[in-house]
Amino acid sequence: MRISRLRLTGFKSFVEPTELRIEPGLTGVVGPNGCGKSNLLEAIRWVMGESSPKSMRSGGMDDVIFAGTETRPSRDFAEVALVCDTEGAPLPGLVAAGDGDALEVVRRIERGAGSAYRANGQDVRARDVALIFADAATGAHSPALVSQGKVAGIISAKPQERRQLLEEAAGIAGLHVRRKDAEQK
Ligand code: ATP
Ligand code: MG
Repeated sequence: MRISRLRLTGFKSFVEPTELRIEPGLTGVVGPNGCGKSNLLEAIRWVMGESSPKSMRSGGMDDVIFAGTETRPSRDFAEVALVCDTEGAPLPGLVAAGDGDALEVVRRIERGAGSAYRANGQDVRARDVALIFADAATGAHSPALVSQGKVAGIISAKPQERRQLLEEAAGIAGLHVRRKDAEQK
């Protein structure tokens, strides 16, 4: 699975609709301090199902919505869309086929009303999104996303946490999501 596009509207500092095309190969994001580089990585983690406001550097999840500046009013919602190329890998049965090999996952949050997900235009649950990305050995907690301070975190991680990292890297994290689900039934 390869990320090919990221669209943001009202997410943190990205108040106007912004679309980034991510071409194959190495992509660098450069800019002065505070211009929104980390916000982009957080947007990717958020649309993949991040549920902890703390790891989004937020007090509550509504804080990901553009909070306004002296010259611009705040917004009532934030939306992030992630378009991936599945590179021929099958999609979970609940997700309708997209455009060619495309998978588009959208997460939208409304102020005071929580967030909802869509995958290829269909409403899906947070758990479904977690499964899609866990099966692709990526996702909100995947070692594929390395944020500031994470390397030091891995070095000082407890054995259990390190094991989780290895399982994600091995692409078997989806099995745990399914087991947890089966145990709850
Ligand atoms: P550095 O180079 O220092 O790591 P960066 O490019 O990673 O900087 P970010 O941390 O992504 O910058 O962006 C921080 C900016 O995002 C700050 O200016 C902050 O005010 C803004 N920001 C964060 N949340 C919101 C929000 N909800 N509404 C408006 N602006 C926000
Ligand atoms: Mg940063």
